[in-house]
Amino acid sequence: MSEPSSAPANLAEENTALRTEITRLNKVVEALMNRAERSTQTDGSEFGQFQTTLMLEDLVRRRTEDLEGALRHNERITQELRQSEARFRGLANQSMVGIAVVECGKVTYINPRMQEMYGYTADELNTLGFMSVVVDEDRPKASTLLGRRLSGELSNVQHSFRARRKDGDIIDVELHGSSMQIEGGIALISLTLDVTERVRAEREVLALQSQLREQSIRDALTGLYNRRHLDEVLAREMLVAQRYHRPVSIVMVDIDHFKSVNDRYGHSAGDMVLRHVADVLKRNARASDICCRYGGEEFLLLMPGMPPEAARLRAEQLRREIASSPGIHGDIPIKVTASFGVASYPMHGQDSTRVIHASDAALYAAKNGGRNQVRSAELAATLDAASSLRK
Ligand code: GH3
Ligand code: MG
Ligand code: MG
Repeated sequence: MSEPSSAPANLAEENTALRTEITRLNKVVEALMNRAERSTQTDGSEFGQFQTTLMLEDLVRRRTEDLEGALRHNERITQELRQSEARFRGLANQSMVGIAVVECGKVTYINPRMQEMYGYTADELNTLGFMSVVVDEDRPKASTLLGRRLSGELSNVQHSFRARRKDGDIIDVELHGSSMQIEGGIALISLTLDVTERVRAEREVLALQSQLREQSIRDALTGLYNRRHLDEVLAREMLVAQRYHRPVSIVMVDIDHFKSVNDRYGHSAGDMVLRHVADVLKRNARASDICCRYGGEEFLLLMPGMPPEAARLRAEQLRREIASSPGIHGDIPIKVTASFGVASYPMHGQDSTRVIHASDAALYAAKNGGRNQVRSAELAATLDAASSLRK
């Protein structure tokens, strides 16, 4: 792993220059001393020259002392910088956050956590290209952001992506990036967190929430919608129907003599029959239809956009399928039939309550007519009127 360039490099150069200068000046002093000694021995009268030499020697000595002071000062700074760098390196090495430094497009440093996160060394990342660890789907966005950081357009950035570790595992990563102006360009500093566990927990919570929401609108036994959900959907569908002048049909279904199924085969067999009938209703429904368990052995089909005649035909088809396909309990086939009442908006009622009431009345007529049959609201009304005339 390469190390970031050492901060006191310039100071070290300066110190070498200072040392060379001190050595040179010491040599000058030595030469001056020798010369002064020689001149006093050879010619005692050259007093002026001797004095000049002493003065020069003094100057050189003072200069040497200044330089030595500067050298000591620089060495102290170098020492402090080394300690400071050691402190920060210790921090980076211990960090639970992955740290990477990119200089001139090359990864120049990654801390141990980052290496552990991806499983790659800085050299390996440089060979591979940092972007190759980002999964295919997330790479275009990640590489656009990296480009904008490298160009200096973006200095601070935060984004998430998925990465493929060296061992092939996929991890979720959150990156906080900043930039730093350095000699010769921009250094990118990236702090990365492995958020795989957090993302997984968030997904689980979301899945659980949607599961709970789904459960709250479903009937546990049959999986059909419950009445609470029907009330919500019905109000919405009636508004749409009124606004766009579209029909809405409602089919009420009630299993015939269901009590005797329970009495004869037991309650769990009765439950199986309820599930079986619900399956027939679900299988034949369009995507826009709402199948609902309306009561014990009563069901309601809400069919937005369906006119009365089509609804009657659909009910007839369902009646035939229920009557001809017994539910199997253990290995006992249990045959049941059902009665149907069909009514539609706006023909049989101007609001949902009236349409439901009309379909209920039609169902009642189907029961009275001998069960295992479909009655439409008009026919039920006509028959009712005829019977009241006969009375
Ligand atoms: P009809 O043809 O007139 O509709 O007669 P029926 O026997 O189907 O109607 P009735 O209302 O007399 O009986 C309905 C029965 O449905 C009574 C009740 O015990 C049973 N029931 C209601 N809910 C459930 C359930 O969840 N499971 C089971 N097994 N039976 C249920
Ligand atoms: Mg009933
Ligand atoms: Mg019944």
